Amino acid sequence: MRDVDQLLDEQQRFYSAKSEEYVDWIRNYMDPVRPHIEKLVHASPLSGSIVELAPGTGYWTETLSDLAHDVTAVDGSREMLDIVARRKLPNVTLVQADLFAWQPDRKWDYVFFVHWLAHVPIEKLPGFWKTLDQALKPGGQVIFVDVTAEEQAIEEDVGVESSVPVVTRSLDDGQKFTVVKTYWDPDELISLLSSWGWTATATPVARNEGRGFVYYTVERTRD
Ligand code: SAM
Repeated sequence: MRDVDQLLDEQQRFYSAKSEEYVDWIRNYMDPVRPHIEKLVHASPLSGSIVELAPGTGYWTETLSDLAHDVTAVDGSREMLDIVARRKLPNVTLVQADLFAWQPDRKWDYVFFVHWLAHVPIEKLPGFWKTLDQALKPGGQVIFVDVTAEEQAIEEDVGVESSVPVVTRSLDDGQKFTVVKTYWDPDELISLLSSWGWTATATPVARNEGRGFVYYTVERTRD
């Protein structure tokens, strides 16, 4: 039985090994719902300085680059960041860092991430949101997209290891890895964030097409 840090290490190794395959994988997975998310992103106030966490191959980084003055993209995988670099986005700075140890050295107007929160084990969640608080300018917002339990039905079976929900992911050559995967109920997540001083709204994305994505906007609760 691996402990949580060993699981997170395996999760990171999986994405580094998957990076080239992930370019097409994410397109196939997300292109059908992308217009719905694009619409919300373009209607959002996303602008100014944005830090994108876990950008992967940069599937969303180009959109952010168009909207923002500057984008900082932070991922733990050099292989993933090398793929983002191929996009040659002039206002994007790439930073390789483990998001569970990352200490922001500046502040941004917005923090943005897609398909990252599900990979954060619950025991690391309070620390992760404290880091987001440090990363945000006053009045800043966190905007993120993640899966819900509905999406689980078309993904793999969820197991539990070290009290953490996990799924098995594969490379094209058949190698298997275990990654953390929490399919949050939006109401439970909003209530948890509220207890940590955040106000969140959740907008379902493409539910009528049987997919379970949610677009969240989160800001510090005002007194
Ligand atoms: N946001 C992208 C998207 O929607 O296509 C990629 C999401 S992908 C599911 C997860 C990303 O998290 C990968 O790029 C992986 O390298 C990164 N990652 C995994 N563990 C990490 C860690 N501990 N610190 C930083 N990045 C990590």
